[in-house]
Amino acid sequence: MRKTLYIIGLSVFVFSCTSQKNVKKSSYNAKTSTTQAKTTVKSATPEKKKPEIDTEHGVEFFRTNIADITKNDNTASYGSIVSAKPAGYKVVKTHFPAIAQNFRQKYLILHYTVLPDDKSITVLTQQSVSAHYLVNNLGDNEIYQLVDENKRSYHAGVSSWRTDKNLNDTSIGIEIVNLGYKADATGYKTFEPFSEDQIKKVAALAKDIVTRYNIPATNVLAHSDIAPTRKQDPGPMFPWKKLYDEYQIGMWYDEMAKQNFMTSAQTDIDTKYNEPSFIFLVQTALQKFGYDILPNGKWDDTTKKTIEALQYHFRPQNYNGILDAETWAVLQALNQKYPTK
Ligand SMILES: [Zn+2]
Repeated sequence: MRKTLYIIGLSVFVFSCTSQKNVKKSSYNAKTSTTQAKTTVKSATPEKKKPEIDTEHGVEFFRTNIADITKNDNTASYGSIVSAKPAGYKVVKTHFPAIAQNFRQKYLILHYTVLPDDKSITVLTQQSVSAHYLVNNLGDNEIYQLVDENKRSYHAGVSSWRTDKNLNDTSIGIEIVNLGYKADATGYKTFEPFSEDQIKKVAALAKDIVTRYNIPATNVLAHSDIAPTRKQDPGPMFPWKKLYDEYQIGMWYDEMAKQNFMTSAQTDIDTKYNEPSFIFLVQTALQKFGYDILPNGKWDDTTKKTIEALQYHFRPQNYNGILDAETWAVLQALNQKYPTK
């Protein structure tokens, strides 16, 4: 038995060495003969094609998907290639691309600036906050890029969605010029609408980003979704339903599913609104959907703000942070449609 294992071990060792030798050989050959290098790789992994690379203004891009899209949430892997340039050596990109890779850009987060155009630019370029893109309110056809998509911008802050935290690491941020809200003496917030031009720009930009990175619908979110106790943006005037209906961007519930939950939701609100077990159930549903909330069976400030965030996104007609039957039905319909994996 031990001898057999030794022989198997030896064969593996020999095979490894042979493979390594082939790898080395093809690397060397690449310098002088592209054709030969191609043949060597093809015989090792016959089904895998080499990714093609385009160069534009000195920046290299993969033209095709080189990752296994069935194994990742976001693997439409083309985009600029950032490589080392070690002195005296050549970094080869096309011989051995790994399928075990995906983009770090898993989320798209939308914001409003609470500032007019000129001040938005100054703050987002000169201070400690930033975003990848800024959508102005000038009615022109320009979208400003402030940060390379491969780099982090500082737009999300302390944030969380489902099992992910600190979403600056894994997101693209879009800031939209908008003055936010004014609160009256009772604390009721009135939000400024977005112009049609802005919504078209945001939709086109978002579509481009979610397509390139294959960002799932559950990861296209408001700043208020990922930081509900701190943030309100982009607020209830942002037309999430229009983006879903007209551009297939982000999440929206099915109307029929919501209607099916309405009767029981109304009964829940009427009969057990203040029961800790019901509050716990609602908090658990919010947590399951993705919000950072720990169920405790109390209508506390965190729960109110989290419900408010849900309402900004999915129930913009009423955003007082108090659970009504429709908000409860919407939440259940969303959890049915977008279950946690
Ligand atoms: Zn924000």
